[in-house]
Amino acid sequence: MIPAIVLRRISVVIFVLLSLTHFGLAQSAASSAAEKPAPKVTYLLVGRLFDATSDNVRENMVITVEDERIKSVASAADLKIPPGANVIDLSQQTVLPGLIDCHTHLGSRADRYYEIYKFKATPFDHAFSGVVNARKTLEAGFTSVRDVGSEPFLAVDLRNSINEGYLVGPRIVASGPGISITGGHGDLNNYSPQTRVMMFPEERDFGIADSADQIRHVIRAQEKYGVDVIKILATGGVLSRGDSPGAAQFTFRKAFQAGVKMAFGTDAGVYPHGDNAKQFFYMVKFGMTPSQAIRAATANAADLIGRSKDVGTIEAGKYADIIAVGADPMSDVRALEHVDFVMKGGVVYKDTRSSSHAGTN
Ligand SMILES: [Zn+2]
Repeated sequence: MIPAIVLRRISVVIFVLLSLTHFGLAQSAASSAAEKPAPKVTYLLVGRLFDATSDNVRENMVITVEDERIKSVASAADLKIPPGANVIDLSQQTVLPGLIDCHTHLGSRADRYYEIYKFKATPFDHAFSGVVNARKTLEAGFTSVRDVGSEPFLAVDLRNSINEGYLVGPRIVASGPGISITGGHGDLNNYSPQTRVMMFPEERDFGIADSADQIRHVIRAQEKYGVDVIKILATGGVLSRGDSPGAAQFTFRKAFQAGVKMAFGTDAGVYPHGDNAKQFFYMVKFGMTPSQAIRAATANAADLIGRSKDVGTIEAGKYADIIAVGADPMSDVRALEHVDFVMKGGVVYKDTRSSSHAGTN
């Protein structure tokens, strides 16, 4: 028999423990509610808005950004901005969705795209280029890219470091090395059989495959290391000998006239990073209207890279990936070569609007 006094003590102890537990739970629930920060709300006053859902431009709009996403897009006449709110005045600008380049090589330097660098460049050189080029690309107004072909697995690591907030750059849909057959576009050709620069000979640098089994193996290996997309080099490439640049222009015009849906891709890396927007001029020159060219680099591009849920237009629910230019891109698409303002995921990465505009209101 346990004496009554001891039982009472035990029950007191148990009660105290239960109370402490309950108190602890209640306290942690209360503190987690208190710790959850209020959403950061920013209002963008927009002079001219091209949201890329159509070819229309709307004037005097307000985009409400909550944390990393767009909460609403409304006419300035219909939306009352609360006093003391965080406001960015883009009333002198044309505002568009962040641009998307579906074909980049962030790890490559256009000024080092000679074969000799296959022998001279180290994986570190490619990584350094990736860091620099990612920032250049974002500051040029490209808030998303599909990076299709780099050393294993540079694009994956760059994507992860940018997502983590450690590096500045666009959202990246990452591939590994392009996969081709022995002697194909991704292989080292025209050298003696003794010449080798493979980093991963057992995996043939994750880029050469000659049979269905080998292709399965390389694709599984790429998937294992975190790629989003597989690049297959089924034909020769732009760097192959004997190609005529004029032929590509002819093909573009014919395809566009035949109603082929176009998405924007520059091959930056072969072409200087940060100059991506120079391609708009050529798209317009070969038959597109400025708004069609811009939609190719926004809504259509998002569709092509499978990210329409998150990027490509300025609509409620999408990431607040928003750019602004001073001149009117609908009358001169080259305005996009001078992006003044870049927001990605609600964070401003660039704002070089002239102080006379930036400070007013
Ligand atoms: Zn390429």
